[in-house]
Amino acid sequence: MHVFMARGGALESIVTDSPRGTAEFDLIARIRARAFTRDDVILGIGDDAALLKVPSGKLLVVATDTLNSGVHFPVDTAPADIGWKALAVNLSDLAAMGAEPAWCTLSLSLPGADASWLDGFLDGFLELANRYRIVLVGGDTTRGPLSVCVTVHGLVDADKALRRDAAKVGDDIWVTGTLGDAAAALVQWQSGQAIDPSLRQRLDRPTPRIEAGLAIAGLAHACIDISDGLLVDLGHVCVASGVGAEIEVDALPSSAALLLFDAGQRQHLQASGGDDYELCFTAPTAARAGIAGVAGKCGVAMTRIGRIVEGARVHAIPTDGSEWTQPKAGYVHFA
Ligand code: ADP
Ligand code: MG
Repeated sequence: MHVFMARGGALESIVTDSPRGTAEFDLIARIRARAFTRDDVILGIGDDAALLKVPSGKLLVVATDTLNSGVHFPVDTAPADIGWKALAVNLSDLAAMGAEPAWCTLSLSLPGADASWLDGFLDGFLELANRYRIVLVGGDTTRGPLSVCVTVHGLVDADKALRRDAAKVGDDIWVTGTLGDAAAALVQWQSGQAIDPSLRQRLDRPTPRIEAGLAIAGLAHACIDISDGLLVDLGHVCVASGVGAEIEVDALPSSAALLLFDAGQRQHLQASGGDDYELCFTAPTAARAGIAGVAGKCGVAMTRIGRIVEGARVHAIPTDGSEWTQPKAGYVHFA
């Protein structure tokens, strides 16, 4: 895009043949030099747009997510971790649809043409891209406050897509992995304490549950990834499906690191903390053995945490009969 900015009364191009424009092309050349490709990319970085071959019989699955400095990651986050997370949160959306990753684009807004920052960013971004064979096929590079927008494209069989509106009364509710770790790292960061390294890893380098999403296709009914907190995100499934949910608070899976928090705070973080990027899905009770089987096969814990009921609300129920007051739920932008 050709942008003109009024600066000191003069109009100045930032992307043509000015010294600042040259820097933009240097950055793009750095990205292009490191990106890898695959057979279904007819034309990748370098033209006005990419040309991609969608296999017949598959649906194209598209998702986009932006990370802003200070909002979606602490300002002291390492460039490689920002690169990893920017792609991970997008891959998590593909996982939640039961899709296989294929291609992505990267829109970068950078305060300056900092090549070493970009190299670090690409280390994390491309490490994760390589792991899931998702190819960077284009993007945009502009000057502005640090912000990273990634769009991912995936592929799914039409009858295997996992949607939010497919939960049925009587379904079990499941989650992958453990809950609350990323939010626990943020609590420690905000209070100025030392951050437990395993919690910090969960905040900075979430693992997109791609294998799990593919494995539960055909077994699960509805699915969502947990980005804003279990109760909030499960609420989206309930609204879309026209059902209610009961969650057993004591059944929520915990990491070893989170067990060091007292039970009240731990359960609050598990139920309402954001940023874990685990999958929450519903499945008929007849699928229990099948789900245990695929969990073992893909090496991801899958824990039954409740059931879908008639109604419209998400109820959190402690098994010891004590009163569990639902804390302020999840993270809401503009709230
Ligand atoms: P245009 O002005 O036609 O949009 P650009 O100069 O912005 O072209 O981009 C040139 C090429 O580099 C395009 O193929 C674009 O997709 C790619 N590109 C630009 N920025 C990025 C980026 N951050 N990551 C990957 N590819 C990029
Ligand atoms: Mg452009």
